[in-house]
Amino acid sequence: HVYSDEEVRKLIKDDNVRFLRLMFTDLFGTIKNVEIPISQLDKLLENKIMFDGSSIDGFVRIEESDMYLYPDMSTWMVFPWGAEHGKVARVICDVYTSDRKPFEGDPRNNLIRVLKDMKAAGYTDFNIGPEPEFFLFKMDENAKPTTKLNDQGSYFDMAPMDLGENCRRDIVLELEDMGFEIEAAHHEVAPGQHEIDFKYADALEAADNIQTFKLVVRTVARKYGLHATFMPKPLAGINGSGMHLNMSLFNKSGNTFYDAKGELELSDSAYHFLGGILKHARSFTAICNPIVNSYKRLVPGFEAPVYVAWSGSNRSPLIRVPSSRGVSTRLELRSVDPAANPYLAIAAVLEAGLDGIRNEIKPEESVDRNIYRMDESEREDNNITNLPDTLHNALKDLAKDQVMRDAMGKHLYQSFFEAKNLEYDAYRQQVSEWEREQYLELY
Ligand code: GLN
Ligand code: MG
Ligand code: MG
Ligand code: MG
Repeated sequence: HVYSDEEVRKLIKDDNVRFLRLMFTDLFGTIKNVEIPISQLDKLLENKIMFDGSSIDGFVRIEESDMYLYPDMSTWMVFPWGAEHGKVARVICDVYTSDRKPFEGDPRNNLIRVLKDMKAAGYTDFNIGPEPEFFLFKMDENAKPTTKLNDQGSYFDMAPMDLGENCRRDIVLELEDMGFEIEAAHHEVAPGQHEIDFKYADALEAADNIQTFKLVVRTVARKYGLHATFMPKPLAGINGSGMHLNMSLFNKSGNTFYDAKGELELSDSAYHFLGGILKHARSFTAICNPIVNSYKRLVPGFEAPVYVAWSGSNRSPLIRVPSSRGVSTRLELRSVDPAANPYLAIAAVLEAGLDGIRNEIKPEESVDRNIYRMDESEREDNNITNLPDTLHNALKDLAKDQVMRDAMGKHLYQSFFEAKNLEYDAYRQQVSEWEREQYLELY
């Protein structure tokens, strides 16, 4: 719902809102905030709020730094905390250039562009149900995060309520107060690890929700003296954190992935979409798993995908088809991690799927055996390839795939490619504790 100016003024009064937090997302998925007092509301509604784009990573050069924030009033939400001096509301904004054009380096604008193409192709919604996972670590007396876990619980544990469980409950309550529909919240497999699933939404809203979700999780955790991290693999030897994406594509008549008469009750569109995802999987990995640490998660043995394959029953592959059908028919992509910029990741997987539909790409046969028990030649016989094993190799695959580059647009792709190569290079030059332990005495 896009609120009229009148409605906004009424909401502000009713909720005693004193500050507006204008949110947008930089290239790396970091949420940026400009907070304005409510006295600036008229300026905001007239699209007159300016900021300096040159201070934002991956945005613009110094010479062209004046940018405008255009509020998307359908994203109006009041934060439930901080009522003492009046409340804070958030509005997500699109970034416009000084000559008032949508800024191409804004990941949200890019997703809006990709969704326009999707609509031109006859679809109404690309629905995304995310399953973000995160760890809660203890903080020290200086409020610095440690790597001390907060509990020793495990999957669906009902062990005595501890700080982490209470904290997660509080997160769920705050999110519900903000209008989120939470479908499930549970302890994950690793100690200190949690998952909160919220109801699917159309791509843009889902990406906005993911960003707001992270902000709420971090804020509430801090109140408990805990640090919430969405880093994909904070600790070696235990599971990392993923952000599975449940995807479905709708048109006027409903979910295009469902066909009662199709194989596994899936439509041709579902198979072609899946074919496109498999075809572009290696190249969108850099986008969906964008940091050096992402690749420490994509290893065998920790419930994260390593191979490019799909299954209707198995939990280990890259893509799984959850058993629900009808309107809930969906594909679950399991490689994505919560360090991904959700606007970029969703644009990439949508373009990959649409490319599959346009070109009627048939997926390989499903793999219903445990891929991790196959040897390399068996995998070869089944045409199963690997996901890239480092950020460096992922970037090389991305560079070769024009469809995925176009999914980002030129400006975003170039800044991303450059920044990520620098990141990998900086990493490559480090000498780790592991190396010293292995080699210092031996050589
Ligand atoms: N944490 C696992 C991952 O890295 C997923 C575990 C699960 O949800 N079953 O993707
Ligand atoms: Mg889950
Ligand atoms: Mg999970
Ligand atoms: Mg899942």
